[in-house]
Amino acid sequence: MIFAYEKLAHCGRARAGVFHTPHGDIPTPVFAPVGTAATVKGVPPRDLKELGATLVLANTYHLYLRPGDELVARLGGLHRFMGWDGPLLTDSGGFQVFSLQDLRKVDDDGVTFRSHLDGSTHRFTPEKVIAIEENLGADIIMVLDECPPPTQREVNEQALRRTHRWAERCQRAQTRSDQALFGIVQGGVFHDLREQSARFLMALDFPGYAIGGLAVGETKDQMHGVLDLLDPILPEHKPRYLMGVGTAEDFFEAVARGVDIFDCVLPTRLARHGAAMTNTGRVNLRNQSLAEDHGPIENGCACYACTHFSRGYIRHLMVAKEILGLYLASIHNLHFLLNTMRQIRESIFDGTFEQLKVEMLPRLTSTA
Ligand SMILES: [Zn+2]
Repeated sequence: MIFAYEKLAHCGRARAGVFHTPHGDIPTPVFAPVGTAATVKGVPPRDLKELGATLVLANTYHLYLRPGDELVARLGGLHRFMGWDGPLLTDSGGFQVFSLQDLRKVDDDGVTFRSHLDGSTHRFTPEKVIAIEENLGADIIMVLDECPPPTQREVNEQALRRTHRWAERCQRAQTRSDQALFGIVQGGVFHDLREQSARFLMALDFPGYAIGGLAVGETKDQMHGVLDLLDPILPEHKPRYLMGVGTAEDFFEAVARGVDIFDCVLPTRLARHGAAMTNTGRVNLRNQSLAEDHGPIENGCACYACTHFSRGYIRHLMVAKEILGLYLASIHNLHFLLNTMRQIRESIFDGTFEQLKVEMLPRLTSTA
């Protein structure tokens, strides 16, 4: 079977394993950098390989609008188009479309929306989204789901019914056997809805399950509560993907609750805002106090930015708006998250995950 997940070790409820895909094995738990428009902003695939990335996410909504999924297909599919031969994941575009608020209208059959680029009108149905994702050709693809605000019960009940019908339709619409279609568990912060969603999707027997609708405004306790609930319900022999979550803090808390896959735009987005992620929180690389600092962004960091350049130099690049500054900060932030996840994975094999969590978590005072 192309998409088998093997659980290789566990430490408490934290799992270490490997997910096999047509473009290679993904060691889990894993952090996937986000390449919204078929590029992890400013970072070539060669660097991603060197940083140890094993899975990259691209956004269906953005690629459908520009340059168009059919064009990507004509240019050989997303792997060849973006020059990344490792595993790829595409979302369904649902999250972006539902974020458009005034620009979209949902009904039971699908969602009509206006492009944020030129205002043109478009429509996503489950069948359309699968056709787009098949044109793009990622190894892991997602069902179309509705993403309501997590704390409004009635809205979540209605959205859940729709999400489940859409999941069935996506499954029926799939024609390629070399792509793993994941179901997405929704239900906001409501435990009965979450359980109902997980059980409904499990009956459809997807090769993996995503947990959607979290990290969108609920509290950390609410998020952890949903993960605690789902961990014993979701099948042990399938990967679990917590969508859009990606601080080092979140990695520890969610891996401890049985999550395997993460993605987040944060490392490159923060870099563009001049912020570095470190073991002791965030550093503003534009800060005047770094002007004559000889040290690296983070002491002991093995990334290219930290082994070759001083904080003083990188601050100069940031202030002067030099592209290299953004590149170096992106490299460092990606290294930081990928390396943190590697440490987490190793600690699960060693049986020291809890110790690592206790040691690192208090220092990771994320200001997100
Ligand atoms: Zn570094």
